[in-house]
Amino acid sequence: METLEFQAEARQLLQLMVHSIYSNKDIFLRELISNASDALDKLRLAKLQDGLEADTSDLHIEIESDAEARTLTVRDNGIGMTREEVVELIGTIAKSGTAELLTKLKEAKESPELIGQFGVGFYSTFMVADKVTLVTRKAGTEGHGTRWESEGAGTYTIDDAQDAPVGTTVTLHLRPKDEDDALFDYADEWKIKEIVKRYSDFISFPIRKGDEVLNSQKALWARPRSEVTDEEYHQFYRHISHDWTDPLEIINMKAEGTFEYEALLFIPSRAPHDLFQRDARRGLQLYVKRVFIMDDSKELIPDYLRFVKGVVDAADLSLNISREILQQDRHIQMIRRRLVKKVLSTIKDMMTANPEKYATFWREFGRAVKEGLLAEPDNHKPILEIASFATTNGSEPTTLAAYVERMKEGQEEIYYLTGESRSQVENSPHMEAFAAEGYEVLILTDPVDEIWVDAVPEFDGKKLRSIARGAVDLKKDEEEKKPEGDFAPLLGFLKEKLDEQVKEVRLSHRLTTSAACLVSDADDVTPALEKMYRAMGQEGPRVKRILELNPNHPLVAGLRAAHERGAEDPALPDTAELLYGTALLAEGGDLDDPARFAKLLADRLAQTV
Ligand code: ADP
Repeated sequence: METLEFQAEARQLLQLMVHSIYSNKDIFLRELISNASDALDKLRLAKLQDGLEADTSDLHIEIESDAEARTLTVRDNGIGMTREEVVELIGTIAKSGTAELLTKLKEAKESPELIGQFGVGFYSTFMVADKVTLVTRKAGTEGHGTRWESEGAGTYTIDDAQDAPVGTTVTLHLRPKDEDDALFDYADEWKIKEIVKRYSDFISFPIRKGDEVLNSQKALWARPRSEVTDEEYHQFYRHISHDWTDPLEIINMKAEGTFEYEALLFIPSRAPHDLFQRDARRGLQLYVKRVFIMDDSKELIPDYLRFVKGVVDAADLSLNISREILQQDRHIQMIRRRLVKKVLSTIKDMMTANPEKYATFWREFGRAVKEGLLAEPDNHKPILEIASFATTNGSEPTTLAAYVERMKEGQEEIYYLTGESRSQVENSPHMEAFAAEGYEVLILTDPVDEIWVDAVPEFDGKKLRSIARGAVDLKKDEEEKKPEGDFAPLLGFLKEKLDEQVKEVRLSHRLTTSAACLVSDADDVTPALEKMYRAMGQEGPRVKRILELNPNHPLVAGLRAAHERGAEDPALPDTAELLYGTALLAEGGDLDDPARFAKLLADRLAQTV
């Protein structure tokens, strides 16, 4: 026999379980049954797809209780675990972000939502038991099995188990009943029946107690919506998602005819902590005629809708379909298109039917959904229709349709500005004339915004237009404009001095208070995008931008006068550099040589004090 220590994070989680920070302790049984059901699915698949020799004629879950001995046992004849797997799967928590979540949990104390993010699973047994014994043997292995035991403190023991049958048996040594602490008598037959019925009715294998089968085993997705309670849907959602909060939306689909399938999808109410991690689990569960085929089936749902959970049960696929085949299967591609359409239209309906729900949805998942604008050109329209964006028109996000409705007379384009934060965008010099003339501008601050705006040509016939790109001419009144000609010598001089940094120097129609700003040519890559490419390791040529000057600004006027007095004035090149640097800083850009800029500025200030 060997005594081993739990991994540090596992120990912390166990601590939390032993001290029961979660008020509903009944769910431990759901977790055990959920694991058992997964193990049965895995065994059936291993036989089906890998040709493992195994008896799958009577796959089931069995519950035994002994009121005298105060034990409760859950047994399955599923795939089982090897000794190494027991150590790896039960002794550690492999999930990414666990440490971070644990810290939050300890701060938050009574917070089921946070615990929900772990899917605490097996460890939840320590809420109700002071000792847990697990005996298991992996299908397809010869000889002895493995016996694991722990009291939920720092260590567990592991040993060989002679004569262990294939599958897993978990025995809980129950803590004394304490109803004040919501700790019920889990050896009680009625309590067990009640919990199974409530949480695990849909499990597709029989859950037996003695001669009785406790669950109906009906696939939830095959039952008409009117016959299923929200509570049943929610329990099923927990089983497949490991998220303990209720979903925001439930979607049923059924297609008959040449290619039959049923789908039950859930839109969660909260983004998982690993939504933007590459290795996160994503995708739907695939069933064929009620038989579980695979988890995390990415082929069924595009990446930008990766937060959608659920089941697709297709009638006409082969039971031993592989992931490789799935990728090319025409039917799967068709299902995927339909699911996408349905999810997008459900959200669109939500916008009018329940704006608050929609706001939650967009806050949690909008960033992911916008990736779809890059991935699926065909779906630009439906995706843009469900999108909302921060705007200079108030603090609430707006849809594009609402924006278009508010557009000023004569305005042909949808204006936006990208940046790192709302305040940076709002205070950008590019915004000045638009604010002064009362044009609404969308404020786009997610990294993905920098990219999709180039991929999306228009919405509702209106072009999307960055106010930091190309020429802008909002003023109808020609009278007010300063003739460019007067400034030509200065502009030429500046162009020469700043040749390394800018490709053109011109007068601006977008500034009211700032002296200068930088703009990108309409077709050029923006600096933010350039920066992102560099961060991804792609080197490209530096794209020069255009320096625009505000002819009404005293600095620009003064500069013109100074240049007219004498182009050889030694202070002029420094002023040119200062002007360029200030424009860069004002939009939140990075100076190439901040030390040099600081010195120029200090020298110049010294002359005025
Ligand atoms: P989760 O189910 O969320 O992955 P658990 O802590 O409940 O987390 O279980 C950890 C892992 O241990 C499971 O993913 C599974 O691989 C394995 N396991 C648990 N129970 C069983 C079982 N009855 N049969 C086979 N493997 C199991």
